[in-house]
Amino acid sequence: MSSLDPLNTAKDYDQFVPFTARMMAAMRAREVDRPERLFDDPFAAQLAGEDAFQQVDQKLSEQDQTYVAVRTKFFDDFLTHANINQVVLLASGLDTRAYRLGWGANANVYELDHPEVLAYKADRLSAKKTSCNHHLLGADLTQPWAEKLLSAGYSPTVPSVWLIEGLMMYLSEDQAEHLLDVVSSLSASGSQLGLDLISRKSLEYEAYKGYFQFGTDTPETLLSNHGWQVKVRQPGDEGANFGRYSEPAPSRDLEDIMRVFLVNAEKT
Ligand code: SAM
Repeated sequence: MSSLDPLNTAKDYDQFVPFTARMMAAMRAREVDRPERLFDDPFAAQLAGEDAFQQVDQKLSEQDQTYVAVRTKFFDDFLTHANINQVVLLASGLDTRAYRLGWGANANVYELDHPEVLAYKADRLSAKKTSCNHHLLGADLTQPWAEKLLSAGYSPTVPSVWLIEGLMMYLSEDQAEHLLDVVSSLSASGSQLGLDLISRKSLEYEAYKGYFQFGTDTPETLLSNHGWQVKVRQPGDEGANFGRYSEPAPSRDLEDIMRVFLVNAEKT
């Protein structure tokens, strides 16, 4: 069995979750085809593969497509504006920011995800160069992983910028809390963190039912309990709209509805 095989089917949890990396790549590829695209990702279509496009067409909506485009742009801007040279992308999947954002030669970009996902990406992009020092670290993020990051040169005594995009919902609540504990313990004051979260009601979203495990209606509390000063937006809010939403985001006063949160935070 080659290291690419686990990404080729989407039958059970252990195969479906890594496969979502290809579904995200397919949605980025669709965005790239739009004349008014929010970003360019020249590698997305190649990484996605035909079966990921089929899954997206069968399972996901236009609203999901818009969300992934907005989320990608939101976190592209977040990483670029952070202007921090130590960058950690947790559950990076087939994210190609290491290749497509303009990093300086002093930047270290660390990516962590399941080994087979990163091996697939490395294989497909082996001819491409990055403008940063690029570290692909295969890891199960529900198991101890900090040592791998430290061994690769990461320093917890200088500020870092973290991105946790499209991961938290696949963890149990205990795993999600523990991940934030580890990230916080590795983050010097002034570090920044970007992540997306879903509401508790969103656990019922049909397309991902049985796969989504963790949602929260209080992202501010979740992050502040781990020592982060938080700014939370919903897609459609100012700074997370990019001309893609004509309706305002649902009021936070409305309880028990499906919604997503785009969060950025600074370590206090
Ligand atoms: N961040 C990427 C993006 O937005 O395109 C990928 C998001 S994809 C929805 C979810 C990713 O989380 C997959 O790449 C999957 O392999 C990774 N993932 C989920 N659980 C994980 C775990 N326990 N350890 C490592 N990676 C995990």
